[in-house]
Amino acid sequence: MSQNFQEKLSPKRVLITGGAGFLGSHLCRRILDGGDEVICVDNFSTGRRRHITPLMDNPRFELVRHDVSFPLYLEVDEIFNMACPASPIHYQNDPVQTIKTTVNGAMNILGLAKRTNSKVLQASTSEIYGDPLVHPQPEEYRGNVNPIGLRGCYDEGKRCAETLFFDYHRQHQVRIKIARIFNTYGPHMHPDDGRVVSNFIVQALKGEEITIYGDGGQTRCFCFVTDLVDGLCRLMDTGDDVTGPINLGNPVEISMTQLAETILELTGSRSKLTYLSLPPDDPTQRRPVIARANEVLGWQPKVDLENGLKETIAYFDSLL
Ligand code: NAD
Ligand code: UDP
Repeated sequence: MSQNFQEKLSPKRVLITGGAGFLGSHLCRRILDGGDEVICVDNFSTGRRRHITPLMDNPRFELVRHDVSFPLYLEVDEIFNMACPASPIHYQNDPVQTIKTTVNGAMNILGLAKRTNSKVLQASTSEIYGDPLVHPQPEEYRGNVNPIGLRGCYDEGKRCAETLFFDYHRQHQVRIKIARIFNTYGPHMHPDDGRVVSNFIVQALKGEEITIYGDGGQTRCFCFVTDLVDGLCRLMDTGDDVTGPINLGNPVEISMTQLAETILELTGSRSKLTYLSLPPDDPTQRRPVIARANEVLGWQPKVDLENGLKETIAYFDSLL
């Protein structure tokens, strides 16, 4: 990754909540590389200090340990609200805290944006579509979420956060941007967070059985992290009339069995596939319609699955 820190005459002060996490840490790097200042706020529940250690020497980087479900007072120009565990294992580990993070966190961050008149971008999710009955999913689709299921704390929390963003926009003219992020992968994923890409790669590298849940026919689309971060930055840079929601994801759809086979091939692993029961409310299919991102942001993913997986495999190989 580039160490080329630009200097800017009047840098923006950019708050990144969840900045020590997988996506947040890539975003911190990207914003610093563009010459702006970063305040990274994180409670380190799923984030890791090692993700941001290389940034600590940069005088334009500041770290604040804080839980966004409590108010915070800072002076900033832009906010990326990334704080929230994204892996089902992590967000289901303490579901009440997940709701506090998504809902109270959104209110605190929107209050901060209102006071400072800063632009604020919400990291929303394809999970707001639940187990979708419309395929692929355009932004107009309102979703099929089980409010009392195990994924509800995350899905409904993120849905409520979108509502709060639009209410603060309509009632208080807060300058909002909502990105609906689909499955993203790459370096800085947690090796043990239970998400499919990290699970399969770690299992393949260790020669352990590859755990496919259900019959492996369920589908997802995987976006490489650099593409996703590029989409988030483009969305932040749009004018105040662009609020979103805008889907960001790679529209190439693949089944979990195909994903396992691809990872086995790329790692050269001899691991065997094993089939386990499907977790409740696991969406059977998911694919973003990205026409809006294409039209409004001029954005589309550039990194194909094979190249993205190779980079991710190299990262996990170095970790293990
Ligand atoms: P992650 O778990 O790696 O990072 C989340 C970060 O937020 C961590 O550093 C964690 O310590 C921090 N955090 C959690 N609760 C907090 C709190 N109450 N106060 C302060 N910090 C807190 O997850 P990620 O994959 O980087 O996801 C980042 C954001 O993107 C999340 O909001 C997630 O919902 C969203 N998203 C991610 C994906 C994906 O595929 N990675 C898909 C859709 C949406
Ligand atoms: N999955 C799997 N084996 C694993 C981990 C996940 O087959 O070891 C499946 C999971 O059931 C789901 C898909 O992979 O159908 C994506 O899971 P992930 O947790 O990565 O993301 P999400 O379900 O939130 O899209």
